[in-house]
Amino acid sequence: MARYTRAACRLCRRVGDKLMLKGERCFTSKCAFERRKVPPGYRPARRRRKRMSDRALQLQEKQKVRYTYGILERQFRKFFAEAERIPGVTGENLVVLLERRLDNVVYRLGFASSRPQARQLVCHGHFLLNGRKTDIPSCLVKSGDAIAWRNGSTQTEYYKTLVQEIEDRTIPGWLTLDKQELVGRVLALPTGDDIEVKFDVKAVVEYYSR
Ligand code: SF4
Repeated sequence: MARYTRAACRLCRRVGDKLMLKGERCFTSKCAFERRKVPPGYRPARRRRKRMSDRALQLQEKQKVRYTYGILERQFRKFFAEAERIPGVTGENLVVLLERRLDNVVYRLGFASSRPQARQLVCHGHFLLNGRKTDIPSCLVKSGDAIAWRNGSTQTEYYKTLVQEIEDRTIPGWLTLDKQELVGRVLALPTGDDIEVKFDVKAVVEYYSR
């Protein structure tokens, strides 16, 4: 399972936006984007920022989505192809598919403070999906699915701290969470209105439609 392994903050600086890939750190003054709002490798004396073409803007939006959900290009194209195949608005379908990824659901339930952390927790086999151990972050959840911690994982320090902190975390309306047992459930599949997107999905569709 290939994934991006270089510094996450470079990605924010590359696309010129905060992608919130580092959990708590993103809210502090240590945020690399807050400290240096220029692309990596930028040298003011040598380069001047040019006006971006429409194509470059579309590419940037596509990269933002990809980086946000931690997906490499090949897999992202597969998601896009699937979004095109499903009836409805392609952009909306794409976001809904991405939201249904198990690592994203773990993040949305508040079990992790960022998507990369959620992905790691899933890969390390901490979760049961409908009672079965699942360690595939790209697995798509369905309506009615239950996401629970494995018995062994409930003994970890991370879990014990989470039980105390979970109260303050807000979860989207299409999910529900038992805050005592830390069992999440998918009430219904999300719709476009349920998902707060920080990017221009239309530009992503235009990027692939050329
Ligand atoms: Fe992006 Fe978070 Fe790094 Fe800031 S701290 S640059 S928001 S990943």
